Amino acid sequence: MIAVNRRGAARLRAGHPWVYRSDLLSSVQAPAGALVHVRDERGRKLGSALYSSASQIAVRLLSSEEIADEALADLLRRRIGTAASFRREIAQDANSYRIIFSEADLLPGLIVDKYNDLLVLQALTQAFDREDLRQVVADSLTEHFPAASIVERVDPHIRELEQLPPRQSRLLRVPRSSPDFGLGWETIDHSKTIFTLNGVRFHYDALSGQKTGAFLDQRENCAVAARYALGAALDVFTYQGGFALHLARVCDSVTAVDSSRPALEVAEQNEQLNCAQHRCGEIEWIEANAFDLLKDYAAAGREYDTIVLDPPAFAKTKRALPTALRGYKELNLRALKMLRPRGILVTCSCSFHVSEAEFLEMLGAAAADAGRVVRVLAKRGAAQDHPVLLNVPETAYLKCVICQALA
Ligand code: SAH
Repeated sequence: MIAVNRRGAARLRAGHPWVYRSDLLSSVQAPAGALVHVRDERGRKLGSALYSSASQIAVRLLSSEEIADEALADLLRRRIGTAASFRREIAQDANSYRIIFSEADLLPGLIVDKYNDLLVLQALTQAFDREDLRQVVADSLTEHFPAASIVERVDPHIRELEQLPPRQSRLLRVPRSSPDFGLGWETIDHSKTIFTLNGVRFHYDALSGQKTGAFLDQRENCAVAARYALGAALDVFTYQGGFALHLARVCDSVTAVDSSRPALEVAEQNEQLNCAQHRCGEIEWIEANAFDLLKDYAAAGREYDTIVLDPPAFAKTKRALPTALRGYKELNLRALKMLRPRGILVTCSCSFHVSEAEFLEMLGAAAADAGRVVRVLAKRGAAQDHPVLLNVPETAYLKCVICQALA
């Protein structure tokens, strides 16, 4: 049993599943990753939660009911089943999407992404690192996606925060019915695949050195961006070519920029994968710092009909917000200056600490400084497989504004 103070209890009652360590009332005896019952300071029941002995987020509520230890596996199985069938409904024409999005699927601390026939599991907490729970999760996933392999991807920084021993990313399961063509499954690399977003194909290597996977949350925004895009396009922060390859289908040319050489190498392989069979505008991959490049291009008087800005999260903490907003403004200002009349800007922010209102305000200030009249065509968030949970603002992190420079 864990007792929480008034602030912790109010937070849970307001529908947010986290209690910070500073809101625990007494020292906790529960083992790392245990299922615990949570009470308020007067002993009233608040529900059951997964406990972390290390994280500042000490408690993540699972249910407002008190769940027995023996019932935990069943609860997780039911929730995984619900998450999987929800994705099947909303992402019918996609072979790649997020199956489980932590709090938004009432499975706080667990993320599972599907890349075609490969499921990638990430345990973000001590609880989901428990061997018994990992087995429950893997069994459930196998039941719902029998043809898929499962890889566990490890983020060393998160393991450090949770005080978990270091571990390598690894293949957890291969499908039982794996077609091995008589070669034996050892000879097939189950941690690699080719997946599809809106008909565009991408390489995926779950065990490659790079920290991030693909950005599935932009799946629907890539499709919408391609509906508006035209002419000469510039994709800034392209990573492995997510937007660029969508734009190449409709634009005359695409200049795609990233500071990561390994990401651009995969992007070029992705180009070969797509542009052999499909019409593609000419794509140029450029390794550069986006801030320097935009400054140089703007100074050189370059112009584009379509510009995409999809930077990494500039505001990792609330304190970083003012600096982050300055960064976003600089990028957007330079992009707006380079847009041809009637040109399209697709501008994103994945910083949870920057609200949609703040983002739009920043964009308005950038437009004013650039001397442009800008019309908002669409205000979007992450794809539907990354659902937003009301009262858990952290689930609504992605902003994607599509706008047009009128003059
Ligand atoms: N648009 C991509 C995702 C972009 S993620 C997609 O939809 O798939 C952010 C990218 O920004 C990463 O690839 C990272 O390498 C790159 N990046 C970070 N800082 C940068 C900088 N200063 N200049 C250029 N690229 C940068």
